[in-house]
Amino acid sequence: QPNHPEVPELVHQKSDIKMSKKGVNVFVRFRPDNATEQKLGVQCVDYHPDQKKVSVSCDGISHGFNFRRIFPPESSQEQIFLSCALPLVESILEGYNCAILAYGQTGAGKTYSLLGPGYDHPERVGKCDQELRGVAPRLLQSIFHQIYSTVSGEAVYKVYTSYIQIYNEKIFDLLNPAKEKLKVYQDTDKGLWITDATKVPSKNVKEVNQILELGTKYRVTAATNSNAESSRSHALLILTITKHLINTGTYRASQVYMVDLCGSERISKTGVVEERLKEAQNINKSLLSLGNVINALAEKRKHIPYRDSKMTRLLQNSFGGNSLTSLLLCCSSNSTNALETISTLRFGDRANMVHNRPVINQR
Ligand code: ADP
Repeated sequence: QPNHPEVPELVHQKSDIKMSKKGVNVFVRFRPDNATEQKLGVQCVDYHPDQKKVSVSCDGISHGFNFRRIFPPESSQEQIFLSCALPLVESILEGYNCAILAYGQTGAGKTYSLLGPGYDHPERVGKCDQELRGVAPRLLQSIFHQIYSTVSGEAVYKVYTSYIQIYNEKIFDLLNPAKEKLKVYQDTDKGLWITDATKVPSKNVKEVNQILELGTKYRVTAATNSNAESSRSHALLILTITKHLINTGTYRASQVYMVDLCGSERISKTGVVEERLKEAQNINKSLLSLGNVINALAEKRKHIPYRDSKMTRLLQNSFGGNSLTSLLLCCSSNSTNALETISTLRFGDRANMVHNRPVINQR
């Protein structure tokens, strides 16, 4: 492993959250109001000082929820990273699979939180200020920092990057647009669902960031050209990290999934709250399947319908399987989006009940 430049900011980074290994760790971030919301609505969220409870008012009724941590609109990108992702770095390098997923309605801040501002525009991808970088670039920096800090002769790491998009049940390789649509197939060893996506060997943060920028540009441009909305697609950045322990001769391997889920909006604007929330109009099929998987897991049913969509097959480890998982719910705190916010928080409420079974992947 070559010497790496000092990254002083990383030495001081500490998280005040201990991740649960078994439970899905559910966080909520409320973004600041946009111009339309400022004009048309009012704040509808009450924050509790313990940062774990929140209530949303809609049509005179208050809906309360509990999560691992609630981030009000003034929260910084760094705070989100320190709570939702930094505590995973050690586990990733020990050989655990980890997943960080962003869920919420279109425009709620999923891409902003995961990647940073500008990642929804081909010209501005990767050009944001350092302090506005999202979870993924910070996590990459932290992972490589740890790898390069390992005493040489103890372990050798290799990192590979894949970046895919799922749109209308088709999987596209964002690192090789010429490649035909990707397949999802079962790994003969473990019976897990994987894809034949391109895996680019990556030596440092800069290389992965370049890949991320290229892939995201392709994602946004392709969506614009084909009139396909990128808010209707899921993007998955997948790192595969192998570790060869020199002393024992053993190998460990972990996968890190960073997932920008498609917009979860599905509310019709008529009827009473309960009825409106029950409606599932227009919802993307794979997101509906994900909801069904979460419900089945929360209710501890025998059959978990992972096979229902490509997305749920690929997320088999992230929910109910071999992974440590952070789920970041992204929400508006404005009354004009109160129903969507309640719907997002209810999804998170069920995800709170999901249990995973992470183990170190070793051979
Ligand atoms: P999504 O990915 O959920 O569709 P985006 O991340 O694209 O939403 O966010 C929509 C808009 O709101 C973007 O212009 C983004 O820069 C802005 N935005 C989102 N979250 C925040 C935040 N916490 N602070 C400031 N601006 C934000």
